[in-house]
Amino acid sequence: MAARILDGKALAAEVLSGIANEVARLAQRGIQPGLAAILVGDDAASRVYVRNKVRACEQTGVRSKLIELPATVTQQGLVSVVGELNRDPEIHGILVQLPLPKHIDAARILDAVSADKDVDGFHPQNLGALVAGTPKLVPCTPAGVMRLLAKTGAALAGCSAVVIGRSTIVGKPLALLLLQENATVTVCHSKTQGLEEIARRADVLIAAVGRAKLVTGAMVKPGACVIDVGINRLADGSLAGDVDFESVRPVAGWLTPVPGGVGPMTIAMLLENCLQAAQR
Ligand code: NAD
Repeated sequence: MAARILDGKALAAEVLSGIANEVARLAQRGIQPGLAAILVGDDAASRVYVRNKVRACEQTGVRSKLIELPATVTQQGLVSVVGELNRDPEIHGILVQLPLPKHIDAARILDAVSADKDVDGFHPQNLGALVAGTPKLVPCTPAGVMRLLAKTGAALAGCSAVVIGRSTIVGKPLALLLLQENATVTVCHSKTQGLEEIARRADVLIAAVGRAKLVTGAMVKPGACVIDVGINRLADGSLAGDVDFESVRPVAGWLTPVPGGVGPMTIAMLLENCLQAAQR
């Protein structure tokens, strides 16, 4: 039987509508959550991502402030913009769209964002809280993946979960969230030996690599839940995930599409983090 499709677009719409209700409730207390997005330079993909985030703000009643800076902005200049937003009482969430130009030390910029307003969950204090098992603001893509997994109703406790990719924004925090749910977690990366065999043991298989169609049907345990985080632009301009949808669909139990899977959930979780920051 073909895998059931995990519709991230529909789930994200549900989450956003719940956030809109919550924002309306806060308005009665005179509070409007505010999100500031900093966009540096003219990267086309970053521009699209930021536009989608601003649109989600409009949809939910969250105030958005877009700060566009030239690619020539200095490290100090960017730090001081972040500092102003940290002090702005109308702003509850700050996101710095990555990647930043090469002359900027991205880690120092992310450190400069107040941990209480760090809606991307990238600040060492928030990552530390996740490691300690007391998560506060959790990185959005991993949080979105966990919400999609919850939607399947599959029990994570005791299951074998394999995460392919170990980045600080996706793979590592996702592994920690799965561990928190008592899954037995294996993290694979570019130096992993025997990836296919490891992947085939997974009840939950997550691909966050950035390589089109890396995961094929032969790497999937029958009935497994397969989550595709990857976004890859093919030569013909179309988008593909890290999972070969055609060969995996007949084997897996659940599968996320690209686009329309993890991407919309990432934005929904960003808005949820902003709401949470405002409620505090
Ligand atoms: P990254 O480049 O920081 O990390 C990629 C990881 O994949 C690394 O840990 C690397 O060791 C591993 N890797 C590379 N080649 C491998 C191989 N052959 N086998 C196994 N592991 C391998 O990437 P990232 O920022 O984590 O993003 C991963 C993908 O997810 C990208 O396609 C990105 O566009 C996408 N992404 C999507 C969303 C979303 O909202 N849907 C959000 C963030 C990232």
